[in-house]
Amino acid sequence: MPEMISLEEARALVLAQVKALPAETVPVLEAVGRVAAADLRSDIDIAPFAHSAMDGFALRAEEIAQASADAPVELDVVAEIAAGDVFEGSIEAGQCVRIMTGAPVPDAADSVVKYEIVDVVTGDGKAGSRVAFAAPTAVRSNVRDAGEEARAGEVVVGCGEVIGTAGVGFLAGCGIVEVPTHRKPRVAVIAIGSELVPPTEVPGPGKIRNSNSYALAACVQAAGGVPVVLPIVEDTHEALAAAVRAAAADYDFVVTSGGASNGDFDFIKPVVEELGQLLMTTVNMRPGKAQTFGLVDGTPVFGLPGNPAAAYVGFEMIVRPALRKMQGFSRFERPVVKARLAHDAKKKDPRRIFLRSTLSKDADGAYVATPAKNQSSGLFGPIQRSNCMVVLPEGLESRTAGSLVECVLLDVNEEVVL
Ligand code: AMP
Ligand code: MG
Repeated sequence: MPEMISLEEARALVLAQVKALPAETVPVLEAVGRVAAADLRSDIDIAPFAHSAMDGFALRAEEIAQASADAPVELDVVAEIAAGDVFEGSIEAGQCVRIMTGAPVPDAADSVVKYEIVDVVTGDGKAGSRVAFAAPTAVRSNVRDAGEEARAGEVVVGCGEVIGTAGVGFLAGCGIVEVPTHRKPRVAVIAIGSELVPPTEVPGPGKIRNSNSYALAACVQAAGGVPVVLPIVEDTHEALAAAVRAAAADYDFVVTSGGASNGDFDFIKPVVEELGQLLMTTVNMRPGKAQTFGLVDGTPVFGLPGNPAAAYVGFEMIVRPALRKMQGFSRFERPVVKARLAHDAKKKDPRRIFLRSTLSKDADGAYVATPAKNQSSGLFGPIQRSNCMVVLPEGLESRTAGSLVECVLLDVNEEVVL
């Protein structure tokens, strides 16, 4: 196992160890934002019948082919068709029918002229009236054809497609009220550290609150998974081995934070090695060099570092893609934009650096990235106030204010193209 690998290698290594979870069937409304696990087909034509796109008059276009402002053509209104009605009568020469939006266009008509451009000559414009047309109309004008969107039996949402909010309506219209989608990964979140107390407690001397588990649970949830925050584990080999073994048996994925370095009380690496296969320990990035990954009884176990920002970046960059793959997603890169740096960024560490930053636009509409003043890996606050991470590539090349840098957007879905 190589000592330090690149972020791309780390991501590929982890992605190679996970696959899409089996499908479950969920109500269509619960499928929003999830991936269809099979081709979904409409049971009927959409639209089921040719219908009017306007309130107006249905007629044969040839009837008013000669109509003009100087010589309007008058027709008798012989019926009225509301949405939901079916008109079975005939339309003879010199006749038209009043029609409402969504009502079936009779076979005897081939065009709809909208109400607003028709003059009522006698009556109230309903059946029994006489109306005048001052211009011709095209065949199929304002007529929405049967099967315009899909034919019965046709695939309307393909396997692998992400179902959007509109897709839920589309599927409902196709009679699809239940959708097969990949099961959400159930993710165990374990905080490791003898200094940690739950956030409900006021920490005593030498103790701090476990904040990582909550950020990581939120990240799991945002990635589409189901987080379960497990009890804090003290810094002993035995306690951690017991917790990891139990979690690996019960969950689809295990995420720990803390104890991932080489200190006297850092046990995630030896525990994964003892219980299963240790596949990765160190990634060439900052924050978050210590990133442990392996399998325990075939379950992926990811040991994030304890420092909050390091844990967060490791999750964002490596764990999130894995959880997405388990749900059938095929895009793993957050949207990236190029922006001008608001101030100099010194590069003293050759690792790839992620600077927690704020992306905004200047007066000309160009993107500007302002890295947070405090880039300590121990803090969540600067990430809370950021909306992107500026990427400074491997090497020692510092950047000056105004230079173009890549910014990975936070909390924006991988499907978004910018
Ligand atoms: P470690 O990776 O265990 O050496 O921890 C690095 C730093 O992160 C230490 O200052 C820890 O106290 C802190 N830390 C570890 N776990 C957590 C946690 N769950 N929540 C907040 N801070 C933590
Ligand atoms: Mg520790």
